[in-house]
Amino acid sequence: MSTIIDRFNKINSNINNLKSNKKVNIIAVSKTFPLEHIMPLVEYGHIHFGENKVQEAVSKWRDIKLKRQNLKLHMIGKLQSNKAKSAAELFDYIHSLDSQKLADIFSSFEKNNQKKLKYFIQVNIGNETQKSGIPESELEAFFNYCKIEKNLSVLGLMIIPPNDQNHNKYFKHIDYLNKSLALEELSMGMSSDYEDAVRCNSTFVRIGSSIFGERS
Ligand SMILES: *Cc1c(COP(=O)(O)O)cnc(C)c1O
Repeated sequence: MSTIIDRFNKINSNINNLKSNKKVNIIAVSKTFPLEHIMPLVEYGHIHFGENKVQEAVSKWRDIKLKRQNLKLHMIGKLQSNKAKSAAELFDYIHSLDSQKLADIFSSFEKNNQKKLKYFIQVNIGNETQKSGIPESELEAFFNYCKIEKNLSVLGLMIIPPNDQNHNKYFKHIDYLNKSLALEELSMGMSSDYEDAVRCNSTFVRIGSSIFGERS
């Protein structure tokens, strides 16, 4: 039976074989799994981990992160504004920045604390009513608001493409939008489509089940 480390290394080598021009970071998405299950990969020296719920992430990671300060935690799930401050305290990267209200809260958090976070703006690329993210039509104005008015360090765009077998179309389009805003990083690709995402210039792939196993 393959271990978490075997599976992680296999994904890493698959990505290296694609010979992207940019460094590709694997975010090991550990949501729903207890820390004991995740620890082998932490001990192995991997630093990027992703979670989608603030409360779960705080109880799982807060103590270990104090001991291992090189760990980088990524918030990849929908963020309610009443949880934004707790998220800012724990996480290093926010991939789901999608409202002025969140931008305002993060900006004042950064001013009041000695901490700068890194952000991805989530775009609702398929204009799906059930998905979060800002519509493409509002992207440029929102990006300028975050960057210029709120001084947030926006690294790039983030998408979860519609589930219609056509992910390459969305990956290519978001890569185009990312470049048009002169952004350097791109958050896209999950267990099922990360190789295509890297071919379309993703630099942060978010991989859960292919590393940790199926979630119950
Ligand atoms: C759960 C999740 C992932 C990882 O999905 P897998 O298919 O398990 O790799 C990636 N991105 C987001 C936003 C998620 O919620």
